[in-house]
Amino acid sequence: MKTSADVLVIGAGIIGGSVAYHLLERDPRLAVTILEAEPEAGTGATAKATGGVRFQFSTEANIRLTLLSYRYFTDAEAILGRSVDFVRHGYLFVTTDPATLERSRQAVALQQSLGVRSQTLAPAEIQRHLEHLVVGDLAGGTFCGDDGSADPHGMLQGFLARGRERGLHVLVGHRVVALLRDGERVVGARTAQGDFHAPVVINCAGPYADQVGALAGVEIPSKPYRRQVLVTDPLPILPDVFPLIVDLDTGFYVHRQGKSAVLMGGTDKDIKPGLDTSVDWEAFGAVFQAAAKRVPPLAEAKVMRAYAGVRDLTPDYHGILGPARTAPGFHVACGFSGHGFMHAPAIGRLMAEIVLDGRASSMDIGALSLDRFGAGTPPAEANMF
Ligand SMILES: Cc1cc2nc3c(=O)[nH]c(=O)nc-3n(C[C@H](O)[C@H](O)[C@H](O)COP(=O)(O)OP(=O)(O)OC[C@H]3O[C@@H](n4cnc5c(N)ncnc54)[C@H](O)[C@@H]3O)c2cc1C
Repeated sequence: MKTSADVLVIGAGIIGGSVAYHLLERDPRLAVTILEAEPEAGTGATAKATGGVRFQFSTEANIRLTLLSYRYFTDAEAILGRSVDFVRHGYLFVTTDPATLERSRQAVALQQSLGVRSQTLAPAEIQRHLEHLVVGDLAGGTFCGDDGSADPHGMLQGFLARGRERGLHVLVGHRVVALLRDGERVVGARTAQGDFHAPVVINCAGPYADQVGALAGVEIPSKPYRRQVLVTDPLPILPDVFPLIVDLDTGFYVHRQGKSAVLMGGTDKDIKPGLDTSVDWEAFGAVFQAAAKRVPPLAEAKVMRAYAGVRDLTPDYHGILGPARTAPGFHVACGFSGHGFMHAPAIGRLMAEIVLDGRASSMDIGALSLDRFGAGTPPAEANMF
């Protein structure tokens, strides 16, 4: 087994997979190794992601990350050699609150200025998207038909397969327990199987990224929060295709997963940080309450199963991308909140630029820098649910 590499990536989730893929796409001569704690790649947050892809963010950085990523969903076969089952079903955000609507209107103006085909809708226009949606109390909403969903597992396998064709090593069952130092510099990682050396070490540990950062003495303000998903029967009373609907007032969301199921969740804004992925059935009371109010047939849905995963949230709901200045050689790509899957292609590309060129050139990543937290409170993403 080779114990030295040009780049070590910690974590084989969608972010680590994309980072490794993009490094090797730029330079196939690089030696890239992923160290993954679990016995398989992609069993962390990536396995729980419901696959949403959206342009409807309120900040330029998050909108640009989707713009950079989008072709990996629409042209996955050409880029990754496999489909990621992208379906353009649209996202529909609704609110009863005029102030929230005004904020959403400003977000749509920003999205449109960047070329996104989103729009603000009056309640009557919202009704056209789903007959069963209660719109009488709504102030309005926003819609983008290019939003949709895709298969996170398929995309990760695509990144890893393309990476392996270019010599990528993925070592599963290799938990990083310490980082190797030469003075301040990070020069490798320690696992129970031995030490691995590399001049560049990239922390892609998802909800565990703050713990991995602590191994380098780097404080990473991204914290894990449980997110639960309720899966119901197909509920044939609802159409085969309708947009992913987000009630911005409650954080409730619902969408159809193919013809076989309806997924619901959200309403968890007050949850405390933690890595627990057991299902809290009581918490679904709030989901059902919000569901019954907005889409009454959902109250009759038969629950088939539920599961919980963990999202790594930052205080401003932007990811963290780039070098850790206090630990040269150590880079961070984490804190992607509810949008790590949809932004993974862009993050991989940007990280490859940072490592190989010394700076990201595909977009301005100031809003994602680790240093931003010391410099006051950056504007937060408002379209969170
Ligand atoms: C219920 C739910 C729904 C979601 N829905 C969406 C959605 O619709 N759209 C979207 O874009 N995003 C969504 N997300 C968010 C998305 O899943 C994450 O942002 C994304 O998967 C993060 O990927 P990652 O590679 O950073 O983390 P992970 O997939 O968790 O990968 C990190 C990897 O690091 C490994 N690791 C951790 N510590 C160590 C260590 N010490 N040594 C070695 N390996 C280590 C872990 O085992 C893991 O495999 C959702 C999340 C949840 C929980």
